[in-house]
Amino acid sequence: TVSYNLNEFLALMYLLMGLSALVALASGVRAPYGRYIRQGWGPLLDSRTAWFIQELPALAIPIILLIFSDCSQLKYLPNKIVLGIYLVHYVHRVFIYPALMKSGRVSALMVFLFAIFFCILVGYIQGGFLICHANFGTDWYRTPTFYLGILLQLTGMAINIYSDHILRSLRKPGETSMYKIPRGGLFEYVSGANYFGEILEWFGYAVATWSLQGVAMFVSTACNIGPRAFQHHRYYKEKFEDYPPKRKALIPLII
Ligand code: NDP
Repeated sequence: TVSYNLNEFLALMYLLMGLSALVALASGVRAPYGRYIRQGWGPLLDSRTAWFIQELPALAIPIILLIFSDCSQLKYLPNKIVLGIYLVHYVHRVFIYPALMKSGRVSALMVFLFAIFFCILVGYIQGGFLICHANFGTDWYRTPTFYLGILLQLTGMAINIYSDHILRSLRKPGETSMYKIPRGGLFEYVSGANYFGEILEWFGYAVATWSLQGVAMFVSTACNIGPRAFQHHRYYKEKFEDYPPKRKALIPLII
């Protein structure tokens, strides 16, 4: 079984870790993977393998809980729906996203270790919450927040996956490390369309679950990838003279 007090405590820790990451990233540190890879963050790893291994715990831990725990919250339909969407996200992130990557780049060991630690926590917190503890009440089907949350979550996931597809399509076969101006979809409005989609997805999760665990997931994700959208935005503006001047960094028409 998974203790609820421990689950809530870890959710709070996860939220605080996200806020600490925000402080580091906002003060100018650029997470050393992809275009910002550099020396000084440990040995370099193949990014496809690193993505697969680092994200795996977020998928494997809920599946282990499903098979081996005696938890019973999944008898409720809302728990099944939210866990189903969560699992779709991580099946994509663990198996499909790394398989489709066109990156020839590497990831630094430190980033890999941070990511794997975050993903172990995510799997334990969100899996434990949805499978063992979450009680959305008997009249959940009358609460607009549940439907609104699910709608935002699915919309965010679609934006995220489509935007990552646009980024992949920028490189021709054989090109691995050159950058071009992304066009189409929400990239017409923001430089970080994939990040906007992912943040919206977890915002929807927080609204649907209306829980500390959901808020921790949303805030921590926004703190980790929100600053990266601003870093990419600056990178594009410095690199491309013809970068669309009206395009924002993260939130369409706003910032
Ligand atoms: P990036 O946008 O930095 O890169 C995504 C992929 O597209 C990489 O393979 C990159 O190549 C390539 N790419 C990006 N921009 C261009 C361009 N202008 N021209 C050509 N190719 C380009 O995203 P991240 O790697 O930071 O994130 C990937 C996914 O993972 C996103 O969906 C993100 O939301 C998610 N993520 C989620 C986190 C969370 O906390 N939940 C944390 C981090 C990521 P290259 O590698 O060579 O730069």
